[in-house]
Amino acid sequence: MNPEELTRRLASVRGVMFDIDGCLILSDGPSGLGGSVLPGAREAIDLVRSSGRSLAVFTNGSGQTPHQIADSLRALGLDLGDHEVLTPAVVAAETMQALYQDQPLLVFGGVGLHHDFEKLGLNVIDLDRVVAGEPTNAVAVVIGWDTDFGRDKLQVAAEAVLAGAAIYCTSDAPSFASVHHLNVGVSGFIATGLSHVTGHPYRVLGKPSPEAMQTLVQRLGVAAEQVLIIGDDLILECSMARASGALGILVTTGTNSAADAEAAPTNQKPDAVLDSMTEFVELLSLASESSVPRAV
Ligand SMILES: [Mg+2]
Repeated sequence: MNPEELTRRLASVRGVMFDIDGCLILSDGPSGLGGSVLPGAREAIDLVRSSGRSLAVFTNGSGQTPHQIADSLRALGLDLGDHEVLTPAVVAAETMQALYQDQPLLVFGGVGLHHDFEKLGLNVIDLDRVVAGEPTNAVAVVIGWDTDFGRDKLQVAAEAVLAGAAIYCTSDAPSFASVHHLNVGVSGFIATGLSHVTGHPYRVLGKPSPEAMQTLVQRLGVAAEQVLIIGDDLILECSMARASGALGILVTTGTNSAADAEAAPTNQKPDAVLDSMTEFVELLSLASESSVPRAV
């Protein structure tokens, strides 16, 4: 996309989704835990808000609730409300409600996953009772950031799947951007293992799934074509933009580089590659000026 076209597309954007890790902040833990703000991130959020556009931040982490994530981001000076934070747990709970209503669900994860299921009043099976031998008639097994997933849980999850339950996973990203070391993903590790032992595939509900995009456009209150998705991961953010007709920008402060974007397949290609959020702020300011009608 040439600079003029990019400016024109940016001017028509009505809602913006920022990724968190590697885009707004960089840390050694998921969803900004103990992190530091990347240059331009605060200004980017302030500019989007003052321009009247809706905004959301969307992590693929499911270890914390939206409120907890918003709290850590606010502590870092990012001006965000709880309702502007999306996680795959939000998507998973909404999807389970739509597909299965009040049917029983096996849910593996911590408070970050369970919170959204409780909020919607979903029928979550008591894991302790199932592990103790009580039979389950679960229609779905939902895998999130469960750092206590051992043999007992694997056994009951596999039995449920072999009895007909579908497998869902919050995210199967192998890792996410961090300061010092490879920050490995837990949910995809478990879902892959469960899929291996049962021979049944799993479905991802976090980015870049259509379900995640649907939750995002509902939260932003605009059509997919009016959304800008900005993140550091070609597979998670750029492919979600590409598949839905949203504008997609890769920022190279995290997982993927400009060279990665150059080599990416068509379905992961960003519309633009930026070095930093500071560059994004400059571009969006330009686009906002260009959209103001000139006096004759
Ligand atoms: Mg990221």
